[in-house]
This record gives sequence, structure tokens and C-alpha cells, in this order.
Amino acid sequence: MQERTLFRARKTYTVSPIVHTIKDGVTTPHNAFVDNLGNILSLQEVQDLIEKTKSFYELDSIDNHIRKNNLEASLIKIRELYDIYLEQDENGLYLVPEPNYNYIEFGFRKRAWYGTCGWCSHKISSKLVEGYYALNHFSHELEREKACSVNCAEALWKDVVKDWIHRQGFQELFKL
Ligand SMILES: [Zn+2]
Repeated sequence: MQERTLFRARKTYTVSPIVHTIKDGVTTPHNAFVDNLGNILSLQEVQDLIEKTKSFYELDSIDNHIRKNNLEASLIKIRELYDIYLEQDENGLYLVPEPNYNYIEFGFRKRAWYGTCGWCSHKISSKLVEGYYALNHFSHELEREKACSVNCAEALWKDVVKDWIHRQGFQELFKL
């Protein structure tokens, strides 16, 4: 029979310093394995777990699997933090989020306003145009850039988001 590798999370265990001993003023923590129901595992159970754990690390290309798993875990954390909605294609690759921007009208400002389009570098002047496009990035570390047109706003969005994906090291998780 052919061997298959299935990755599935079954039961979770926590390793916690359950007991602390103090000797000559020095505190030593003693770790125990605790299951998700709060039961402390016996030494035999811990030894069995370690045996099974060792075989996990001996699987083929396990380092690659660990790296990808941890990369996805940090992407999930960021998605929750910034409430980003990401679609996945049929291969599980995430799609670059759709451009998100607002049109900001100058209205009756007293003072003249000048800016630069983040994509084509054209000057945006409240004396010449009625407004500009402001990008709504999901990450606070991304600057709220301005664009002179819908085309520039969409191109700039894609560029900034792709650059962010690369800086985070997420490029293999996305369809770029
Ligand atoms: Zn432009």
C-alpha cells in the first residue's frame, strides 16, 4: 500500500510551568504537558508523544511544510488584525485584494491644496482639479497615498500591496 501524508490538527497540548520550586532564593519552573481538557499527562504519555513527535520531524520535506505553515499562520494573524478579506483561487493561493480608495472632493476650501500623484507623479492642485483619490490601505504601516485618477489609484494600489506582500515574505502564498 502506498504511504500517504495527511496533515491534520487533532489534539492540542500545552507545555506549561505547572510547578515552581524555590531553593536558596532561586525559582525553578517545572514544565508539564497539559491537554486541552486541562489534564496533566503521565510520564508514559509524554514519552509516547515525544516518540510520535520525533517521527513528524523525520518526514520528507518537513522543514518546507513547517515554514509554509508558519508563514500562513502569520498571514492569518495579520488578516485578523487588519480585518482583511482575502479570496483564494482553486490552488489555495490568495488573490491580491481589490483596490480600495475614496474620491476626496476639495469643495470650498479656503486654502489652496497641492499634492503629488503617487503613481504618475503629476501635481494635484485644488486650483486645477476638483478632487483626488485617496487609497485605503488595510495596514497602518502603509501610507494613505493619493492618486490623480482612477487608473493611477488602481495601479498604485496593486503596486503598494504587492510590495507589502514581498516585504512580509508572503509571495509564495499569493497569486502575483
Ligand atoms: Zn496619476
